[in-house]
Amino acid sequence: MLSIDLDALAENYRTIQLHAGSAQVAAVVKADGYGLGAIPVVQTLMDAGCRTFFVAFLGEAVALKSVLRSSDTLFVLNGLLPGTERDCAQLGAVPVLNSLDQVDRWTAMSRELRRTLSAALQIDTGMARLGLSAEEVQTLAMQRSRLNGIELKLVMSHLACADNSVEPFNERQVETFEALTRAFPNVARSLDNSGGVFLERGHFDLVRAGIALYGGAPRTGPNPMRPVVSLEARILQLRTVPAGAAVGYGLTHRCEQPSRIATISVGYADGWPRHLSNRGSAYIGGVRVSIAGRVSMDSITLDVTDVPDALLYPGAPVELIGSHQSIDDVADDAGTISYEILTQLGHRYTRIYSPARATQLKRSA
Ligand SMILES: *Cc1c(COP(=O)(O)O)cnc(C)c1O
Repeated sequence: MLSIDLDALAENYRTIQLHAGSAQVAAVVKADGYGLGAIPVVQTLMDAGCRTFFVAFLGEAVALKSVLRSSDTLFVLNGLLPGTERDCAQLGAVPVLNSLDQVDRWTAMSRELRRTLSAALQIDTGMARLGLSAEEVQTLAMQRSRLNGIELKLVMSHLACADNSVEPFNERQVETFEALTRAFPNVARSLDNSGGVFLERGHFDLVRAGIALYGGAPRTGPNPMRPVVSLEARILQLRTVPAGAAVGYGLTHRCEQPSRIATISVGYADGWPRHLSNRGSAYIGGVRVSIAGRVSMDSITLDVTDVPDALLYPGAPVELIGSHQSIDDVADDAGTISYEILTQLGHRYTRIYSPARATQLKRSA
């Protein structure tokens, strides 16, 4: 059971707003709201005052457009794949143009439709992922007509090391961004993701918050965000095994003493990393138990020898993410980041939202 605390999500939005100063806080809701369910996430954030949203690709925008108000803006980060120009324009999604080729195709669509089309423009300031290079920005600055028919809503770039406040490259990217955006003097600017919001400096006009909204730590050190997600599994079966018994696929765990093993109802097909075989933890009644053996597709075996008997019965709850173990803890154990943990969860669980949202029902009633 995956529980999602929408009040905590709204509170995280407000916390980010406090740190962002006068910048507008936009929500990044790609990958189905980082695995939490984009529609309830968007509805909650709209109520909290959010009016700008980012998804990664056009299909994600299609799924959200009907939920948004006409005054909201929905940006598509991955930009404009060849052949999607008309769909993007008709949907009213705003592409983040990442290359001169994308600029030209958007201008051409504007001519074809005989109307102005909105866009954001991304500049690469040192991450070499998406966006115009410095030379391409200069080219565009000298060939203004290439933007005819396009209303630029935003110029943006992305930080490579925002989670590390002492990394000097952050400042280099800020300087590059300042310099390159001079070519677009009256356009709103956006540089910061969650990590950037928590760096002590100005935040331009708009920040693009993702992981911090969902409770992930935006930087190293104490996490200022409220947890949004908790994950509970249940005990399917219990057994007592003698010293020397082996557990799970490949017999990779050997019990050194007589042990109690609990099999629980979550596996890698539920998004629990198989990499946590013989290394991750769970909590039963606040007692830490370790994963014994390999994570299976639909189940995990835990060594519960140290847990009081009263807490061990078929159906008993087991905390995988909650007050004892955060998404960042799980990510550390698995050698990954909270982003990957979150986006893998949830496709198979019953998702429980609190407070329950009835917005959709009310609208159609
Ligand atoms: C995913 C993404 C974000 C959000 O980043 P977080 O670290 O989750 O806040 C912001 N901007 C861009 C361009 C992204 O791809």
